[in-house]
Amino acid sequence: MALLVVGSVALDSVITPFGETADALGGAAVFFSLAAVVLHPVRVVGVVGSDFPEEHLETLARRGVDLAGVERRPGESFRWKARYSYDLGSRETLETRLGVFAEFRPQIPPQFKDARFVFLGNIDPELQLSVLDQVRKPQLVACDTMNYWIHSKRDVLLQLLRHIDILMVNDSEARELSGDWNVYRAAHWILGRGPKMAVIKQGEHGALLVDPDTTFKVPAYPLQEVFDPTGAGDAFAGGFMGYLARTADRSFDNLRRAMVYGSAMGSFAVEAFGVQRLQTATLREVHGRVRAFHDLVRFEVDGEAE
Ligand code: AMP
Repeated sequence: MALLVVGSVALDSVITPFGETADALGGAAVFFSLAAVVLHPVRVVGVVGSDFPEEHLETLARRGVDLAGVERRPGESFRWKARYSYDLGSRETLETRLGVFAEFRPQIPPQFKDARFVFLGNIDPELQLSVLDQVRKPQLVACDTMNYWIHSKRDVLLQLLRHIDILMVNDSEARELSGDWNVYRAAHWILGRGPKMAVIKQGEHGALLVDPDTTFKVPAYPLQEVFDPTGAGDAFAGGFMGYLARTADRSFDNLRRAMVYGSAMGSFAVEAFGVQRLQTATLREVHGRVRAFHDLVRFEVDGEAE
């Protein structure tokens, strides 16, 4: 059940109240793949510039991430710089330098075209559509996007929605896309445009899985120390898709479990700067966290409510 991700491979510079990084390994496809690979083999399609440190690629390769689809092109790598507020609740993007990412035209290597599980990271929706044209028969396609595309390429994005199974966005993106402030109505608006499910990420408040009949909520893991929220959403997606690919089961109960694996991986992402914690996470630790979620939300309905 091959798992494929297409997205940014970046050099991130991040400032939080607890410290800062410069040109650290980052990017949506990186956070996704380091989370997913704990659960299932993952293949990446992306682009890096001539200045991208080889050791960053080795970090991914050592964890077993398949980088055959990562092109190295002459020019600068994609760089992103952001600063978080004192409570880590919001962030300001200080700089986005596209470099070789500006000309990125995803080419899916022949040996990746049989991917059954596909995650389209946040890139131009036209490119996301071109990826779907290149993969043969995906069983489950999930897709991320961002405000920039919601405004600048709305029509293409709406066209894309007709071809995917799950739209995975954060709550503000769901609101902007639908034009509805209520996140549950926004999710149903999305379902009306094609996807079978919407996953709405809510940061420290967890995430929602919404299908036409049900809503499932997973909390965020109650961490006492959070250092850097960067990549939490992509790590969530990696855990979610990694678990689905590992179990090859799209049943309702399994999708709920996948949400918990997603939230567990998101919690590893934020516990340290950049990918530091994700790159040491073990399957045993992930399972431990999944069991902790079970305790966190378990309760017995009393006789009166039954
Ligand atoms: P998140 O915290 O989940 O929003 O993801 C942050 C990651 O997304 C960082 O590692 C960035 O390198 C990457 N990123 C930021 N802006 C963009 C963009 N415009 N396109 C693709 N990736 C981006």
